[in-house]
Amino acid sequence: MTTPTPAARASALDAADPLARFHDEFVQADDVVAYLDGNSLGRPTRAAAERLARFTSEEWGARLIRGWDESWYELPLTLGDRIGATVLGAAAGQTFVGESTTVVMYKLIRAALDLPAIAGRDEIVVDSGNFPTDRYLLEGIAAERGKTLVWIHPSVEGGVEPGDVAGAVSERTALVLLSHVAYRSGFVTDAAEVTRLVHDAGALVLWDLCHSAGALDVRLDEWGADLAAGCTYKYLNGGPGSPAFGYVRRELVDVLAQPVQGWMGADRPFDMGPAYAPHAGVRRFLSGTPTIVSMLAMQSMLDLVAEAGIGAVRAKSVALTEFAVELVDELLVPRGVRLTSPRDADRRGSHVTIDHPAFERAIPLLWERGVVPDFRRPEGIRLGLSPLSTSFAEVALGVGAVRDALVELTADRGGTPTERAAAV
Ligand SMILES: *Cc1c(COP(=O)(O)O)cnc(C)c1O
Repeated sequence: MTTPTPAARASALDAADPLARFHDEFVQADDVVAYLDGNSLGRPTRAAAERLARFTSEEWGARLIRGWDESWYELPLTLGDRIGATVLGAAAGQTFVGESTTVVMYKLIRAALDLPAIAGRDEIVVDSGNFPTDRYLLEGIAAERGKTLVWIHPSVEGGVEPGDVAGAVSERTALVLLSHVAYRSGFVTDAAEVTRLVHDAGALVLWDLCHSAGALDVRLDEWGADLAAGCTYKYLNGGPGSPAFGYVRRELVDVLAQPVQGWMGADRPFDMGPAYAPHAGVRRFLSGTPTIVSMLAMQSMLDLVAEAGIGAVRAKSVALTEFAVELVDELLVPRGVRLTSPRDADRRGSHVTIDHPAFERAIPLLWERGVVPDFRRPEGIRLGLSPLSTSFAEVALGVGAVRDALVELTADRGGTPTERAAAV
């Protein structure tokens, strides 16, 4: 018996997929046959396109300034609660929608370091594989507040293990900042165990959930997490630049003071009083006027995720990455490609990373053919698989196109000597 082709296996998987019907809920681009970058920018939902048009005419256009009283003023908190309930495992009153992930994290980090119980501690733990903005923020804040950074150095294929954290924390640790899913390898850190270890050392933990929210079954309350923040334009399909959410554990909400003291987070903002006092509850983490228009599209995606259920979304994510790994082994590893994501699905987020020296030159060929993955210098392609919008057929087309591009680039006189050596 011969093995069915990747395309035939993909169509069997799509036919058996209980979430396949969601694929049609997304706007499709005519010139794209395989969109494999939903981990950087999710596709728009069809419902979002309608919601945006309706907002202009019916809400902004018809309600005008009255819209603030009617719903916009509360939206950062009502939407925060909705994100918390749908994808974060967070009860109400702990999640808000703020500015970019970078700015929300800045506010949470500063607030954490100023907590009296923590303020005497002088170290912040972070890993060298973390996303640049996380590392840059901490460099700046450490200089600002006289703290020292303690670095964990994970492997390229892996990420931060509980043992790394146990070895890095002490009575000097104020805060640990980690990504739940490593942006490069897709490695999933055991957040419950790491949170426990950080608490044993008397420190606080901030989870960056950019590559988790909307794709993994996150359980912030269950983990006992202190703080979290994450993007909404990746797996929550909020559109370019849609604002991040922040989470603050209930017991910390009213004791933390954030540094960007704006009127929208103040007690009784419309009194226009002489001095700042923080609002009670999670509203105190807001600063200026919320970006209402940028909060529209994600609401339509949350509708879909709620309908599917985050458990089913994660199951589909696992099935997609398992299929991608299977095809990488079959079609790309024989051509010198290296899988730099974990092989164990439990330890892997929703993207699969592969490395090859010719990938930088493969990207233009792939784009020309309507295959859009993500490229990370120096030689990594990330196949980002967004559970509700990516089909198994797209995975097969995408991996097949990478193989074809490699064949072309490394044939005969093509390619550098290293590339030719790497290709079989
Ligand atoms: C995408 C991403 C960010 C982006 O932060 P912005 O402020 O939205 O630009 C931060 N952290 C991680 C881990 C990311 O993957």
